[in-house]
Amino acid sequence: MSFIETDEQKELRKAVAQFSASYGEKYYLEKARAGEHTTELWEEAGKLGFIGVNLPEEYGGGGAGMYELSLVMEEMSAGGCALLLMVVSPAINGTIISKFGTEEQKQRWIPGIADGSITMAFAITEPDAGSNSHRITTTARRDGSDWILSGQKVYISGVDQAQAILVVGRTEEAKTGNLKPALFIVPTDAPGLSWNKIDMEIVSPENQFQLFLDDVRLPADALVGSEDAAIAQLFAGLNPERIMGAASAVGMGRFAINKATDYVKTRQVWKTPIGAHQGISHPLAQNHIEVELAKLMMQKAATLYDLGDDGGAAEAANMAKYAAGEASVRAVDQAVQSLGGNGLTKEYGIASVLVASRLARIAPVSREMILNFIAQTSLGLPRSY
Ligand SMILES: Cc1cc2nc3c(=O)[nH]c(=O)nc-3n(C[C@H](O)[C@H](O)[C@H](O)COP(=O)(O)OP(=O)(O)OC[C@H]3O[C@@H](n4cnc5c(N)ncnc54)[C@H](O)[C@@H]3O)c2cc1C
Repeated sequence: MSFIETDEQKELRKAVAQFSASYGEKYYLEKARAGEHTTELWEEAGKLGFIGVNLPEEYGGGGAGMYELSLVMEEMSAGGCALLLMVVSPAINGTIISKFGTEEQKQRWIPGIADGSITMAFAITEPDAGSNSHRITTTARRDGSDWILSGQKVYISGVDQAQAILVVGRTEEAKTGNLKPALFIVPTDAPGLSWNKIDMEIVSPENQFQLFLDDVRLPADALVGSEDAAIAQLFAGLNPERIMGAASAVGMGRFAINKATDYVKTRQVWKTPIGAHQGISHPLAQNHIEVELAKLMMQKAATLYDLGDDGGAAEAANMAKYAAGEASVRAVDQAVQSLGGNGLTKEYGIASVLVASRLARIAPVSREMILNFIAQTSLGLPRSY
């Protein structure tokens, strides 16, 4: 592992930062407030090869890894244009299908996921299971060679923009006990699938939904990978999800710190710009250190993942997601404080990030569940549940 990015990675970082700035947070917030999607941003990012940078070249991807995809996520977010669906479509679903899908599934889905023409949502969370995925009850039963899928999901992002959803269920034979997940690709126009939009307070062009799967009939080839070896298949997607959650939060922390430092360099109410007062400069310096530390752990997680060390990547990805979530929440809060009254206006565009910054503490896995994981796995402490 090197602490220095390659020339290619530096170029990619520069290109994504320029691209993100060409849209900027004003565009992103206007779209969100109008209840619209950032379709042109997504499509252009796809054409430029940013969305599928981690996916295999033979299926239209960029042939790089999670390091590069998280770099794209971070720079988009740092430019005020975080694309939440990058966490699910290329990072989770693209990874799972390209690692465990059949040749037909790869050819059917990966090129579109890579160029952004297909968006695939991801659904694991259920109302009665929450953080405890072992309690999910979405169940698939066989009918001839078909599958019939029934259940409910909640907080599923981007269903209205997606052509398909990767749904985590379990088969009838594995209905109870520790989760043996079975993963199904469900087209969003499948009969029996319906959804309601959940009203969120997050200012975002991407929405969350409650899903109802009512005897959704799927062909045999909707199943991705093996029906009972799927815990490893699921985790192949969940470590990238955590790395991307960290990348989004690191980017958001950088966005907030940049906004605040620009402002406090020129705002003057006494003899010097307010940025000279240590009550303002020290917290921002602390935020910068915390965000950079979280970024380092995120880069370690992505590097381990790309090297195939899934165990090491899991610990680092959890730590990175935790650290980035905490650092970005504090950075956004301090940025609002640094701007005084302007921090709470729509014009300055920082208050809108307050609620969004909390997301990294809750999803895709809450900070408490990460602390449980680290306590049990890294420290060997007993479980409370
Ligand atoms: C904006 C947004 C987008 C999302 N997108 C998706 C998506 O696309 N797909 C998807 O599948 N899901 C998605 N989610 C769901 C997300 O992953 C869950 O909200 C998250 O896993 C927490 O589950 P929960 O909300 O049911 O909280 P709960 O499980 O009810 O937890 C509530 C609180 O209790 C704490 N808690 C629970 N158990 C323990 C314990 N054993 N020890 C200590 N504390 C505990 C939690 O940490 C949390 O603070 C999204 C959520 C949000 C908010």
